[in-house]
Amino acid sequence: MTAALYTARSGWKVIVLDPMGGGGQAATTDMIHNYPGFPQGIKGPDLMELMAQHAREFGAVIEMDEVKKITLTDDAVFSVSGSASTYESTAVIYCAGTTPRRLNVPGEDRLIGKGVSFCATCDGPLFSGQRVAVVGGGDSALTEAQFLARLASQVILIHRRDEFRAGLYNQRMVRENPKIVLRMNSVVDEIHGDTHVEAITVRNVKTGEVEEEPVSAVFVYVGSSPNTAPVADLVDTDDSGYIVTEPDMSTKTPGLYAAGDVRRKSLRQVTTAVGDGATAAFAAETYLMRRIT
Ligand code: NAP
Repeated sequence: MTAALYTARSGWKVIVLDPMGGGGQAATTDMIHNYPGFPQGIKGPDLMELMAQHAREFGAVIEMDEVKKITLTDDAVFSVSGSASTYESTAVIYCAGTTPRRLNVPGEDRLIGKGVSFCATCDGPLFSGQRVAVVGGGDSALTEAQFLARLASQVILIHRRDEFRAGLYNQRMVRENPKIVLRMNSVVDEIHGDTHVEAITVRNVKTGEVEEEPVSAVFVYVGSSPNTAPVADLVDTDDSGYIVTEPDMSTKTPGLYAAGDVRRKSLRQVTTAVGDGATAAFAAETYLMRRIT
């Protein structure tokens, strides 16, 4: 949204392609407490809608379309193939983010949408007053555990190590929350249920002790994988699959920039995505100016 805002404001013809109409993971986050300018926090969908409005205000067009493949023609023009249409562009800023990883345990695939979820904001309200599990030890797991604790009767937070990966603020908030029960050094071995989630098998990796926990839902937050397939032939990636960029967000293909969670970086947050977007927009504009002069 920032890249669209900047480039559209400079007068370029800008189209944003996104299967959900934009907003990404931030639009499925309940509250964002660390975006400057909102000292009381702001709801993720509200922040992203404001950003979309801002980009539209300057003339960006936002289309619901899923990009499948981006190729470069002999004339150094990008052909962007979506599900609905194919688009041509002289520069592309690729901000496709990441997809949640799965636990890959028995029962998970079968019970997706029946209690297994990757989005607490979307599905949490369905389990109001019930006991739910959250798996993971990063900021996503700890943020969403706090959101769920406002709805559920109890949240069991299961993490495979004895220390969290999440930042200290989120660690303090979950430890101080009386509705969140921590199960450290523990993993989920199986998710049980016929038509919906009924229980999980939790194993302590230190003691080997195995317990069945009755829960109505399992929210999986065990990291994510970058969505790089459409540009796989045009970029270099690191060992974890993230796009390698220069400080100006350029990739190895002239005219193609990457911004946000999809690229190799040390901090994946809305604030840093916004910075990436502005930097990529500036570099793309410089590239476009060179092309036309
Ligand atoms: P993450 O930081 O990669 O954390 C993933 C967590 O899942 C880790 O604790 C990891 O355990 C665990 N895990 C991975 N594979 C697992 C498996 N197979 N079974 C059980 N546990 C497994 O991912 P994230 O929490 O989605 O965060 C992604 C990025 O977004 C981070 O940079 C994060 O700071 C940022 N973010 C920030 C906020 C915020 O500031 N409020 C909110 C959400 C996300 P190990 O720790 O043992 O590796």
